[in-house]
Amino acid sequence: MPRHLRSAWFKTLGQLALVLVAAVVAGLLIGQVWPVLTAAALAVVGWHYLRLRRVLVRLGARQRLDAPARGAGAWDELDRLLHRSQAEMRARKKRLLEMLRAYRAAAAALPDAVVVIERNSQRVVWFNRAATDLLGLRHPRDIGAPVVERLQSLPMSHWLAAGRNAEPMHDAASPVAPDLRLNLRLIPYSEEYWLLLARDVSKLLRLEQMRRDFVANVSHELRTPLTVVHGYLDMLDPQDMPEWAPMLSEMQKQSQRMTQLVEDLLTLSRLEAQDSLPDEGVAMAPMLATLRREAEALSQGRHAVTVQDHAGVDLWGSNKELHSAFSNLVGNAVRYTPQGGAIAIEFARAADGGAVLRVRDTGYGIPAAHLPRITERFYRVSTSRSRESGGTGLGLSIVKHVLNLHQARLEIESQVGRGSTFSVHFGAERVHPRHDTPLPLAQSQTA
Ligand code: ADP
Repeated sequence: MPRHLRSAWFKTLGQLALVLVAAVVAGLLIGQVWPVLTAAALAVVGWHYLRLRRVLVRLGARQRLDAPARGAGAWDELDRLLHRSQAEMRARKKRLLEMLRAYRAAAAALPDAVVVIERNSQRVVWFNRAATDLLGLRHPRDIGAPVVERLQSLPMSHWLAAGRNAEPMHDAASPVAPDLRLNLRLIPYSEEYWLLLARDVSKLLRLEQMRRDFVANVSHELRTPLTVVHGYLDMLDPQDMPEWAPMLSEMQKQSQRMTQLVEDLLTLSRLEAQDSLPDEGVAMAPMLATLRREAEALSQGRHAVTVQDHAGVDLWGSNKELHSAFSNLVGNAVRYTPQGGAIAIEFARAADGGAVLRVRDTGYGIPAAHLPRITERFYRVSTSRSRESGGTGLGLSIVKHVLNLHQARLEIESQVGRGSTFSVHFGAERVHPRHDTPLPLAQSQTA
């Protein structure tokens, strides 16, 4: 026990002893010891009851805190201790409330819609002002309402069922107005509550659309003048003007490059504007034969080209777009492999029931640091090597877009100085049995 508490305790004991002694003395004086002693004891008990009542009143006080007792006895000490802990508790509560209010005010003022959802019942617990503007939730009507019912126009039930694995919805129409486009995220931040965040991305999407339209329009407008220039350049015979021959050849090369660039930009714009492609049967045997012919034509005998077809299946997808993607990969393999290297094209089944098209080369390879960005537009490991080999920097972007439209994925393995393997994985739903008799393996392997 601390010293000041001990002295208060002794002081109270001393007071009690003093009262009892005084009562005994008074009793002796008047010759009535027991009655006086009993009366004194009752008075002491009564006084302690009064003090106990005061403590209970203090404990039960909800509003105003009375000033602490001033005396030096044990009851006064107890009263002071209670007063102090009550004052501390109230100050802490006030601080917490202020913090809570500040957080609420911050969440309420966010430009993004924030909705707190109770996980088990999937009911709305709280939402901010932006949730009214973006999602149409109203106070107090929607507090406690089932979120799926309130946001009926959004595909909520499947999304909420996915819980932690729910992918963000990048472009969803707002229930308030269809031209208001939203990006929705679900954040399961605790065991009991989830957070639904909605951001207005209408402006961003409009800008993105403007960028796409701009690129598509510019490319389209450039196409005709380029065709004219290209046509006239083709008509010029270097033998008529031998001194112009080197310049003429360079002009032809550059106009060819520009034409290819415009064509690639138009292809990308077209792919970006599509959500899906018509599904047709893609016969892989003729596709592989075409790829081999293209590789050999581009290689001009500088590489060993092999094709292996073990899959025995064909694909569902767009013949034209898949051919464009595959031939980009094959073209890259030829262009980034020095003379004497090998290019292997292989089509095989995957363990998951799908199929894989692999293009392997023994070329320059790609440093690992470049791999994450390699499919971005105009991203090149070496600009000069790409230009020299007639590259536009758009090939792998086209490949990525085509594969996305086929729900396929691209995997790249590469070692600098040893070569690269580009593997295209198609899911089982993209694969169907090949009906025509497959060529015997020996015949389909061509070196
Ligand atoms: P480019 O028209 O420049 O070839 P791509 O988008 O097709 O553009 O490829 C992007 C870059 O990736 C290329 O510039 C090149 O540096 C690298 N690359 C692509 N394929 C290969 C490959 N098979 N081997 C080595 N580097 C490659």
